[in-house]
Amino acid sequence: MTAVNSLRLYDTTTREVRDFKPLKSGEVSMYVCGATVQAAPHVGHIRSGVNFDILRRWLIASGYNVTFIRNVTDIDDKILHKAIHEEAPWWAVAMKYERAFADAYSALNVMPPTYEPRATGHITQMIELMEKLISNGSAYAPGNGDVYLEVRKLKSYLTLSNQKLDDLLPAGDADETFKRDPRDFALWKAAKEGEPSWPTPWGDGRPGWHLECSAMAHAYLGADFDIHGGGLDLVFPHHENEIAQSQAAGYGFARLWMHNAWVTTSGEKMSKSLGNSLLVQEVLKKVRGIELRWYLGSAHYRSMLEFSFEALEESATAFRRIESFLKRAQETVGDIDSVIADEFASLMNDDLAVPQALALISEWLRAGNTALTAGNKAEIAKNAAHIRGALSILGCDPFDPQYGDTNSTDLTTAVDGLIALLLEQRESARYRKDFAAADSIRDRITAMGISIEDTPQGPRWSIN
Ligand SMILES: [Zn+2]
Repeated sequence: MTAVNSLRLYDTTTREVRDFKPLKSGEVSMYVCGATVQAAPHVGHIRSGVNFDILRRWLIASGYNVTFIRNVTDIDDKILHKAIHEEAPWWAVAMKYERAFADAYSALNVMPPTYEPRATGHITQMIELMEKLISNGSAYAPGNGDVYLEVRKLKSYLTLSNQKLDDLLPAGDADETFKRDPRDFALWKAAKEGEPSWPTPWGDGRPGWHLECSAMAHAYLGADFDIHGGGLDLVFPHHENEIAQSQAAGYGFARLWMHNAWVTTSGEKMSKSLGNSLLVQEVLKKVRGIELRWYLGSAHYRSMLEFSFEALEESATAFRRIESFLKRAQETVGDIDSVIADEFASLMNDDLAVPQALALISEWLRAGNTALTAGNKAEIAKNAAHIRGALSILGCDPFDPQYGDTNSTDLTTAVDGLIALLLEQRESARYRKDFAAADSIRDRITAMGISIEDTPQGPRWSIN
């Protein structure tokens, strides 16, 4: 028996793996920056969703009650540009791509967040936060309709990215003439002609991106919460500025910061300019959602994942071997349990050591296939249960109804019965020498995409 260690996670702030202790016993509060909904997601966009879903599933399996917030940034320069390009209202563009993200998350079995706040639904909370920051002297409204955070006044700043304020370039997010320091950043941007805006005590305008997350994290998780996550590219300026605003308002904010690495192509961060072939909806024409998830989740979350269709295809083939073992195991020993093995738990507790966990799954697969050949039912059941337990945390359990009912035992049993009935009818038609009817039954089964194979145990069907 392996002793199971307790959960340790890498903290971007301290740059080391450390013990995870939630603020409230048995509860974990998490905020992960969601998408700016300006285009359909490519596989690079969706990795963060998969990585933090694995963490969330592991926390749940470890007995925590997890509150998971992932926001939607539904107002932004890029959305406004897209709206002009698509000749549609900005809010219609935002909704269209929010749905595209939701579809991609769902196809990859990423659990819906506990709450999924939209930025435009939280303008009141943003105004309250700015009022607090202005009244305590951390922020200022110079009168042009913008509101800025005064970075020189911060007790600490840039602790995540480990930079010096004096080395920082100007924020470049607004007209510098109104700023006390060019490194001050905009909390709120004055309305521009023809753009959407909301009224505030300092003039009409719209939120800066950073302010949104501070306001929404506070609204749903309070002043202090356990984990803040996002992609590595968000460390600066986005997350530094979230910390700056929230701490200047007197909130403790996140206790632990986690960042997932990028999906790269030719060593570079995957970007929109690579075209449509890497859109999730396009990749899902080549592999199933469960296979794409397996591939995206296979690298350690802090390691870059170099994307290629060859590697995706290889990974999918490897996954199908695991899936095929589980199905054969089920046919041999009946329903498969889902068991978290101690060795697997130890690896997940070690900053989510997924690559090592995959090696463990390979060992179980080898042992399980050997047991199948030998007809050793106890070994088949044990290895299958360990594999299934691990796959459930990775979000790749082929028996999970989220991946479609073709995997469900109930449906399989029902189809078994229907096919058997059709084959009986075909046999009796042949017995009556009604060959037209017999052929018609066979043709209709084929047309449904089902192949029948005669085996010593009777006919077996499969979906082509
Ligand atoms: Zn954010």
